Amino acid sequence: MTKEQRTLRGYYITVALLALSMIVHMLTESRNHTIEMISSVAMMVALLVLIGMTLLIFRPQLRLIREFRERALLLETAIQSANDAILLMSSQLRDGWPQIMYVNRAFTSISGYSAEEILGKTPEMLLDPFTKRETIDALQQALKHGEPFKDELLNTAKDGRHYWMDISLMPVRSSEGSITHFAAIARDITAKKEEEMREKNMWLELGRANLKAEAATRELQESLAKAEAANKAKSDFLANMSHELRTPMNGVLGMAQLLADSPLSDEQRELVSTINSSGEGLLLLLNDILDFSKIEAGALTLDHSAFNFSDMLHKLGNLLRPQAEKKQVELSVTCDEEVPDYVWGDMNRLRQIITNLAGNAIKFTEHGHVHILASLYHDNDGDKLHLRVRDTGVGIAADKLDLIFDKFTQADTSITRKYGGTGLGLAISKQLVQMMNGTIGVESTPGKGSTFWFTIPCEPAEASDEITTLEQLRTLAPADMPKIPVAEAQVLLVEDYPVNQLFAEKLLRKFGFVHIDKVEDGFEAVIRCSEKNYDIIFMDCQMPKMDGYLATQEIRIQETTSTRHTIIVAMTANALVGDREKCLAAGMDDYLSKPLRAEHIRKTLQTWFLLGDSQLTLTANQPAAAQVIVSEPPAVDLNQLRLFTDGDPAEEKALAELFLQQAEQMITVLEQNLSDSGHDAWKSAAHRFKGSSGNLGASQLYQLCKEAEQHFSDSEPQKLAMLTAIKAETQRVAEFFAA
Ligand code: ADP
Repeated sequence: MTKEQRTLRGYYITVALLALSMIVHMLTESRNHTIEMISSVAMMVALLVLIGMTLLIFRPQLRLIREFRERALLLETAIQSANDAILLMSSQLRDGWPQIMYVNRAFTSISGYSAEEILGKTPEMLLDPFTKRETIDALQQALKHGEPFKDELLNTAKDGRHYWMDISLMPVRSSEGSITHFAAIARDITAKKEEEMREKNMWLELGRANLKAEAATRELQESLAKAEAANKAKSDFLANMSHELRTPMNGVLGMAQLLADSPLSDEQRELVSTINSSGEGLLLLLNDILDFSKIEAGALTLDHSAFNFSDMLHKLGNLLRPQAEKKQVELSVTCDEEVPDYVWGDMNRLRQIITNLAGNAIKFTEHGHVHILASLYHDNDGDKLHLRVRDTGVGIAADKLDLIFDKFTQADTSITRKYGGTGLGLAISKQLVQMMNGTIGVESTPGKGSTFWFTIPCEPAEASDEITTLEQLRTLAPADMPKIPVAEAQVLLVEDYPVNQLFAEKLLRKFGFVHIDKVEDGFEAVIRCSEKNYDIIFMDCQMPKMDGYLATQEIRIQETTSTRHTIIVAMTANALVGDREKCLAAGMDDYLSKPLRAEHIRKTLQTWFLLGDSQLTLTANQPAAAQVIVSEPPAVDLNQLRLFTDGDPAEEKALAELFLQQAEQMITVLEQNLSDSGHDAWKSAAHRFKGSSGNLGASQLYQLCKEAEQHFSDSEPQKLAMLTAIKAETQRVAEFFAA
């Protein structure tokens, strides 16, 4: 028998004894005093033994109860001192919510509710009205199905403050597995949420700022594109305008020259001289505008070749000296010994800058001298070429010194009125110096004189570089080439349009060329060049199979195997900024624009050829000259036509016939290409027609064709209107010759 069994048996015996003594006690009550005493004592002893036995038997259970109590106390202390809020809730739900049965201190301090205020209530009362509906639904579903739940909840404290809780809810199960409670642990994440919000707002702000910046950049790009387009339009306009103005100006100057050569009275001579000088002034202005518009449009590129700097400077001095001496102003040029003889750069543009500074110095100096001085110095960036133009002229007021480099700005309008000028020269010089990575400036004392200076990087070259460069670039300095007598020159004329070919040929013959081969395409020109050495090629730019640019490049490639350099002169009906550069970039030496002008051609040809007596001149007694001044412009300017025909009626007739025959073909092409699909064909036909009309002297027709070429992508009705005008004007030209 085990100890427990023995104890239990003793316990039962004691209970039996107790019961027995109680019965005895009751039966003997007040009848037998002694028995009553004994039974009372036995009862007392049995009771005491019972109590003692009870304590003995239930001692382990009592110890367990004490331990549980201690553990519960420990747990509660832990729960109460936890930083996270802890809630115990009933498993029964009322309207989908459990009842709160227990909360810790952290909960009361976060929510602001005391335990008394919250116990017996549901957690619904804690939720903030802005808590998302989906979150509440998910929580209720978890409660309903006795599942765990975890999410972030927005709550409202007793004082109305909003706070965020990261809540984990789990069901508490009995040992049988049934849910007895729900326990929730909730952490206050308000600070983290606010930080997230701040970050989110910051990102939002950043995103907004980004969007704004993107919009601003887009706007800027659009305005830039617009400004560029406007600038391009302006530069095209200026280039066209100056070109268009220069052509009649050349006519005016030519006529004035002829007039000056004829017998005149002194007064008439004076008048003609004024026409001449005004015209020259106007031409200079037009050149300045053209230069400036090219620079502004970024269409001007600088050459990089080796040249003799001191030679250029002294030659320039010699050129300007007569101008200075006329005013009894002494002009001197000094080039310091340290300045290398040969340097790399753009000689023509450098000369242009110095000419402008020295020209101004002479212009604004009445007495004394103008001194051009070149020196060299060295700084951290390397060698610098420093050029000064010092004068003893009128000087410039201090407050104007910064302004005079702006376009169209002059220091003293009353003084400049006396001397003339446009205010563009210094602006162009400044731009050119900047393009050369240099700086320009001025020091001046009113009444005493000015010193204009500029500094540019100096890259020394060798004399041999000049030759190498020229060989490489095939751009022989015109003045250095031995001139060829024109009658001996071998000429290749490349022109696809028969009328223009005829015009050009006739004109070249007038200048004394005898050996003229003709081809109609760039491709043929390249082949001819490989078979024969030409001295000069006149190259049309737009041709169907291979254009003039490509043909020139091919010819230049062929030439790299020899030391030959064939002069190639472009002939094009384009006259826009950049066209000349495009021709030069393709390897051409010069550029003639259509309509071909005798003056221009002569100037160009003189660079390379000795022009004989047969060279073309306009004679004052040509009957057609009178027609220039009639108010209604004739369909054809005979002056122009006679450049080619020399007034020979038979030749005129032949040319006119050929022209009209080709015109008919061109009109047919235009008629067939009125629709959108015919843009290219329309443009090329209008271009050819323009060239031949210009050469013929049909200036009105030339203008109409030019318009048609420019507006090649207009709508069909607009093109039809242009074509109608062209037809009518062609008819007028035909009638002119028929008369
Ligand atoms: P332009 O001489 O055609 O007016 P520039 O741009 O060359 O244009 O010169 C701008 C202005 O600067 C001149 O009008 C003149 O007022 C002033 N200027 C230039 N050079 C001198 C100089 N050497 N002496 C005095 N003033 C000068």
